[in-house]
Amino acid sequence: MATTAATRVRASERDDIENALKRRVSGEVRFDPFSRVLYSTDASIYQMEPVGVVIPRNVEDVLAVIEVANETGVPVLPRAGGTSLAGQTVNHAIVTDFSKYLNQIIEVNKEEQWARVQPGIVLDDLNRQLLPYGLMYAPDPTTSSRACVGGGVGNNTCGAHSVIYGKTLDHIKELDVVLSDGTQTHFQPLEARELEAKLSGAGLESDIYRGVRRLAQENAAEIEARYPNIMRRVSGYKLDEFLTDSPF
Ligand SMILES: Cc1cc2nc3c(=O)[nH]c(=O)nc-3n(C[C@H](O)[C@H](O)[C@H](O)COP(=O)(O)OP(=O)(O)OC[C@H]3O[C@@H](n4cnc5c(N)ncnc54)[C@H](O)[C@@H]3O)c2cc1C
Repeated sequence: MATTAATRVRASERDDIENALKRRVSGEVRFDPFSRVLYSTDASIYQMEPVGVVIPRNVEDVLAVIEVANETGVPVLPRAGGTSLAGQTVNHAIVTDFSKYLNQIIEVNKEEQWARVQPGIVLDDLNRQLLPYGLMYAPDPTTSSRACVGGGVGNNTCGAHSVIYGKTLDHIKELDVVLSDGTQTHFQPLEARELEAKLSGAGLESDIYRGVRRLAQENAAEIEARYPNIMRRVSGYKLDEFLTDSPF
């Protein structure tokens, strides 16, 4: 079992963080020992007790978590179904569970064959609700009765039929994102002039565009020579996708 001693935040600091969150979050703020132990595991062999747990009801709650985390220097760790196998959702952090409230379909466009969803929707629930539209979200890990869309984005989840239908990466059209400094942004395919504007802008979002492109370009020869050419490569960073401008 994870112990309090292993947690890097002192009890008094934890109280301050909890109180700051409770003042700003409309969802659940759970810093009690039971919740911390509950969220110290996922489907992996790893066990780390979180500083505390937040279950956000809306984007404002997520922004509040980021704000408090930045004020107190504590990491934030998003969590969806918690079915990851490599310890992705356990850490000494404010674990933020998207699966309880942020699990709705916002919009379905049958003609264009897309749906806009919240990150905590479970894959099987999504597909049940898409059935009347004749649509299906393709990534199908064995854990689809628990795993959520947001967790799939984090892992680039594939599943049994991904060789035919593709990985999560192949099915995400756009993303609404909150960055680590609290900036809200939208990732989507960009035209050349839109990309130029992002690359020459100020702030964290532009830093990310510049940083990813620089890493890909500086390591282009190594990436081309050594990235394995296999259909379901989901480990490591997909820098090969950024060797041309097209994925932006
Ligand atoms: C028995 C078993 C079988 C499995 N089979 C497969 C398989 O066939 N194919 C496969 O690809 N995987 C498989 N997995 C791994 C895992 O189930 C999948 O990767 C699954 O898609 C993870 O989804 P999740 O909702 O549980 O994500 P989580 O484990 O909760 O999170 C995954 C990652 O996404 C991040 N994340 C979650 N929500 C957000 C958010 N809102 N914003 C930002 N980041 C977020 C987390 O921080 C974490 O890094 C299996 C696991 C088990 C235990």
